[in-house]
Amino acid sequence: MFGRINKMVYHITIPNALRIVSLAAFGFLVYTGLQAHSTDGALLKELRNTNLGNLFVWSFWWPLIVIVAIFIGRVWCFVCPVELITSLAAKMGLKRKRPQWILSGWAITIFYAIILFMGIQVLKIHRDPTMMAIYLLSIAGVSVVTGLIFEKNTFCRYVCPVGFLLGLYARIAPIGYRVKDADICKSCKDKSCIRKDYTYNLSAKSCGVDIYPAKIEDNTYCILCMGCRKTCGRFNPGNITGRPNPGFTWTGFAKGLYEHRPVTNAEAFFLLIVSGFVISEILSEWNASNDVLTFIPGTMKSILGVTGPFAAGMVDSAVLFIAIPAMVWGIPYFAGLLGGSRISIIEYLRNFGVAFIPLMAAAHLCKSVLKISSRIPYLPLSFRDTAGMEAAKSIVAGTTFVAPLPGWTELLVTLLLTLIMAGGIIIAVRTIQAVTTSLQTGWKGRIYQLIPALYGGIFIVTIALWRYVAR
Ligand code: SF4
Ligand code: SF4
Repeated sequence: MFGRINKMVYHITIPNALRIVSLAAFGFLVYTGLQAHSTDGALLKELRNTNLGNLFVWSFWWPLIVIVAIFIGRVWCFVCPVELITSLAAKMGLKRKRPQWILSGWAITIFYAIILFMGIQVLKIHRDPTMMAIYLLSIAGVSVVTGLIFEKNTFCRYVCPVGFLLGLYARIAPIGYRVKDADICKSCKDKSCIRKDYTYNLSAKSCGVDIYPAKIEDNTYCILCMGCRKTCGRFNPGNITGRPNPGFTWTGFAKGLYEHRPVTNAEAFFLLIVSGFVISEILSEWNASNDVLTFIPGTMKSILGVTGPFAAGMVDSAVLFIAIPAMVWGIPYFAGLLGGSRISIIEYLRNFGVAFIPLMAAAHLCKSVLKISSRIPYLPLSFRDTAGMEAAKSIVAGTTFVAPLPGWTELLVTLLLTLIMAGGIIIAVRTIQAVTTSLQTGWKGRIYQLIPALYGGIFIVTIALWRYVAR
């Protein structure tokens, strides 16, 4: 199976031809988003589902790339138009060396925090089609500026939080991009895959994201641009057999988690913030759990007398994306200390942060199932009227009714949510076993099984109460 795929992706036009198509789609979605401007709250509530751009981006594109990342890997990056844009900008740009603060990975964490704090909580980029369009244009803008200033592909490796989150989830995928024979690389003299001369080629290019293919251990960082596969094959000086060496292959389910590799400090904080976002994503689906979720930020806002959207968004963000996850991450750590563990907080974050990945991925997968299944009924409407203004007005006026999917789909969704979360917890338990074995914590390491119990428990209990008890 991989033979045929590897042959296909070796073609000179792949993946750039696909990226040109996705760039056209990107432009169209931005255009539809900009067509649906409104400040009317009731209309916006419907517009987010009737506007094709907003509906597609948040209810299909984002959920689908999460699902694909978990099961196949960082495939979105293979077709992402932003890689093409930033690579073209870098070809023409200043090619400055990247400063340490960018190479440290903190730019991704900070950029992601800005998107959550400002984009989601204040500007509502997920609920307002115009804001969604501005958000997409901003991402493209940042990628162009990054490309024009810095060398290689700085944006995809050190700035883009979307690709990075997918890369972390892709550690679960059983498929990966690796060299088939590390000995060929060891004896390779030309090292075409990392040679400077080929960095700014558009198709057969050496790695722009600082990876040496023979050293790829998991799916976190490779953006599947296929550049090194082509340089390895096309610039092969002595017709060495076995080249091109890198390509897709089976790697083993969740091997990227079970072969324990700690994350960096910046990545650990990135995971912590995402873990808070994922809690809010699931708990906001059910009114009762949403009331629990919003109780603390709501109380804080009334104590502080906060009213304006900016200040309210900042308080909500600080509680949901920092305080709550810090508490969930902190409890197992302090339980470990009480149990006699000597692991420092930084060591804990970097090593055990990895165990949150399958739980976050499972919860994100649940959200994807809920999103897609609840928004399918809107598709015919949004295809008929891509801006979605007329459809939204007629829903508000009560002249159009969107019928939900048949009743049996609810049961199917409930079963899927249960299975997905159970799977996430099992993988997290095994990941913690791998971490404690590698850290040689002895029996004390079992205390850290509190991570799946607590963090996975939040989702399992919510799903059980919402889908089984309250119905
Ligand atoms: S991937 Fe190809 S070009 Fe790179 S070191 Fe290995 S054999 Fe050489
Ligand atoms: S390792 Fe190869 S496929 Fe992956 S990003 Fe680098 S050049 Fe592209």
